[in-house]
Amino acid sequence: MSLPIYLVGARGCGKTTVGHALALALGYAFCDTDHALQQFSGQTVADIVAGEGWPGFRLRETASLKTVTAPSTVIATGGGMVLSEENRQFMREHGQVIYLNADATVLADRLEAYPEAEQRPTLTGRPIAEEMVEVLAARDALYRQTSHHIINAMQSPDGVVSQILSVLSLARA
Ligand code: ADP
Ligand code: MG
Repeated sequence: MSLPIYLVGARGCGKTTVGHALALALGYAFCDTDHALQQFSGQTVADIVAGEGWPGFRLRETASLKTVTAPSTVIATGGGMVLSEENRQFMREHGQVIYLNADATVLADRLEAYPEAEQRPTLTGRPIAEEMVEVLAARDALYRQTSHHIINAMQSPDGVVSQILSVLSLARA
């Protein structure tokens, strides 16, 4: 039985892209906690936040993390998953946690290149590059303390996959 692999990191670091490729390489299932949460509740993230506020969203996020946790599964987590101590501890105890690390400028460039892809509207209306600097400043330490391995996510997706396989001593299926 193989432990789940949790991918953590800021929006745009490649959790979905790399997660799919990693699952394919290992013959694992792939899950995305944001997608699972929306499926369970039948609401979008924006709807949930509008109806229940961020605390309500965070409770559902924790429930969704626990629900998708299963052996032989790659789990792409929401960017804010590490904000909760309960979630951080749960991931460390139940699987291998990988931090996909990238500079704020790289993240902003990726998100700006695909403006309509899964973007949550910014609250401030400020340039996305400024927001990414702030998000990383607030969360980088949490991503680091939660993860078992930190991987440079500023290389090709296949390079990222290969490095994850290498640090986990796993072979392609
Ligand atoms: P996340 O799920 O962490 O928010 P995504 O996997 O959705 O990130 O990737 C965000 C954008 O960046 C997508 O357009 C994706 O194609 C691109 N991307 C992801 N990883 C890489 C990479 N290693 N190199 C170049 N572009 C990438
Ligand atoms: Mg994603």
